[in-house]
Amino acid sequence: MKRILGSLVSIVLAASLVEAQAPRGASTPREKLAREIYAELVGINTVDVAGSPTRAARAMAKRFIDAGFPAEDVKIILHPDDSTRGNLVVRYRGSGKSKAKPILLLAHIDVVQALKSDWSRDPFTLFEENGFFYGRGSADDKAMASIFVANLLQYKAEGWKPDRDLILALTAGEESGEMNGVELLIAKYRDLIDAEYAINEGGGGVLDGEGMNVRPLFNTIQAAEKVPENFTLTVHNPGGHSSVPRPDNAIYSLANGLVRLSHFTFPVAVNPVTRSYFEANAKVEKRPEMAAAMRAIAANPADSAAAATLSTDPLYASTLRTTCVATLLNGGHADNALPQTATANVNCRIAPTSSDDEAMATLVRVLGDTSISVVFRDPVRELFPKSAEAVKPVVLSAVTDLTKKMWGDIPVIPVMSTGATDGRFLRAAGIPTYGVSGIFSLPRETNAHGRDEKLRTKSYYDGLAFLDALVRRLASR
Ligand SMILES: [Zn+2]
Repeated sequence: MKRILGSLVSIVLAASLVEAQAPRGASTPREKLAREIYAELVGINTVDVAGSPTRAARAMAKRFIDAGFPAEDVKIILHPDDSTRGNLVVRYRGSGKSKAKPILLLAHIDVVQALKSDWSRDPFTLFEENGFFYGRGSADDKAMASIFVANLLQYKAEGWKPDRDLILALTAGEESGEMNGVELLIAKYRDLIDAEYAINEGGGGVLDGEGMNVRPLFNTIQAAEKVPENFTLTVHNPGGHSSVPRPDNAIYSLANGLVRLSHFTFPVAVNPVTRSYFEANAKVEKRPEMAAAMRAIAANPADSAAAATLSTDPLYASTLRTTCVATLLNGGHADNALPQTATANVNCRIAPTSSDDEAMATLVRVLGDTSISVVFRDPVRELFPKSAEAVKPVVLSAVTDLTKKMWGDIPVIPVMSTGATDGRFLRAAGIPTYGVSGIFSLPRETNAHGRDEKLRTKSYYDGLAFLDALVRRLASR
């Protein structure tokens, strides 16, 4: 009886799961509008240099003007050195009931290069097939951009006013790393985008399963990120004829230094965000020894046994501490000559509570050879927030409540990205930034930056509803 009941329950559960995750088309007018905006954005090539984020910014600006937004609240900000790198900033004025600063909604509209010859479909046309949207930017980051635009247009159309201003910034230069739109806005137009906090990409929900038979596992809020920094290592040597080797050799000196670096592990640097990450992630981690180590490190960051266990997983290892790894190597100039120069690039992902000076000092010490010079490639000193503060309770409770309502009793996990988003510029400028979207996918499923980038149709419409509800709730206080 028990077994029969058990299998019945699982059949019913499986059926409802399949139904809950089934692909679907746009059904409401708001979904149709969002899909139309999404298709328009994907249809505009916004690859840095080859395309034009400015065209996308202008297309979105037209929608706001047509919807009755005053012209002074819809601003195109061009980069002074490149008119193709345009940004759009829109202010939706609140009732003024709340004296709190605005909430900033941030999405980048530039995308990574995509060649038609590499793709199964035209990367700059939004295709809908088998429960997925395909197209460059369909996941990164034109889903969120189109959702924010559609929701603001909806608020205006229905006459809903937030208690404080909402600011939308659609920006260029996120993917190229050059002439970054957020950096420009912070440096020159701070008043336009100044906010209590920002909502950005970098978060999302994680699914478990296969194909269309999936279930939501947890939702995330990206609340901190590591800071990337490159260091150039160089060894010079007078060189000479290779038939008469000498004990000092540029290649050997550099190689030996790099071997010492490969054996080195930076000290554990747990911060409030990673602490809550390990605590919450323990609830969904499938390996019991890992889950136990997460609970242990959250309770006591000095637990070295727990750190050792977690460090066997590359992602957890990188979440625990600063990492530095050799990524490029060059040396010598001829088959029959002693090398005069050997260089390497070391890419560090520095814990937000640390600094590039600290990473530099550690590198010099670990390389342990004064003949190896170490220099910053592009100093990023100003990008260290010095702290990684826990998610604001109002944001965390809103995300948690909405997650429960939409996807059931699954955890919301605050995360620190090991990679980088535009959130780092805002955080460094003192604007807390949360990567949260309510858009779910299987791990690595979207193939963002890669071929045939895609997003589940259901996830898109769920994200639309989630961000709508989240923004309404946060802006009503
Ligand atoms: Zn992105």
